[in-house]
Amino acid sequence: CGIVGIVGRHSVSQRLLEALKRLEYRGYDSAGIATISGGRLERCRAQGKLVNLEMRLEQQPLNGMIGIGHTRWATHGAPTERNAHPHIVDGIAVVHNGIIENFAELKAELEATGADFETSTDSEVVAHLLAKSRRGGMSGREAMHAMLKRLKGAFSLAILFQDEPATIMAARNGPPLVIGHGDGEMFLGSDPITLAPLTNEVTYLVDGDWAVIEKTDFRIFDSEGNVVARPRHTSMASV
Ligand code: GLU
Repeated sequence: CGIVGIVGRHSVSQRLLEALKRLEYRGYDSAGIATISGGRLERCRAQGKLVNLEMRLEQQPLNGMIGIGHTRWATHGAPTERNAHPHIVDGIAVVHNGIIENFAELKAELEATGADFETSTDSEVVAHLLAKSRRGGMSGREAMHAMLKRLKGAFSLAILFQDEPATIMAARNGPPLVIGHGDGEMFLGSDPITLAPLTNEVTYLVDGDWAVIEKTDFRIFDSEGNVVARPRHTSMASV
């Protein structure tokens, strides 16, 4: 039910957890974080309250200066750890808010070509669609564009590609998503309140937009893949 992301200059896992706490007010049943460290995806998830995730992270700290996090309000698939986001397929980590309405059709199509689903969520199709395009030789950006053309429904997404370890990809078609501007760092969040301890400078994605976010730079594209400019605001959200 909430998304966070940081492309940072320092370790991100603790800051992702703090940002997820600021999303608690929306309600959730499980939570998780993925980072890239030493060129590899690392993941920690837990059912129930964020304190469960926090305890897991104490036992098994996640390193890395780039990462995404999620609080889940289950719509498809029970609120278990296995169904908690991020979902990982072939070095691609996905967090998703909302509902992929045509997931059953996409899942059947992907399974027919050999995809092995680990969860009973609607969200996992996103990771498999991206993985299939990457196997076919597309870049992360090309795979994003192709994947977004296939999805129906209301969603916001944040994605990490293990082999493109300096970038978070994001997309919005429904639930709000904002990019936050930091000092040599960039952030992503479901709303400016989430990001308030990190930055007050935000850019809202518009429905149909998707973005490639790096430490000191970002680009926003429309559904046709054209670069678009979106205004930067100073948010009034306070810490
Ligand atoms: N539909 C997805 C799921 O059930 C995402 C739910 C959410 O927005 O948290 O896993």
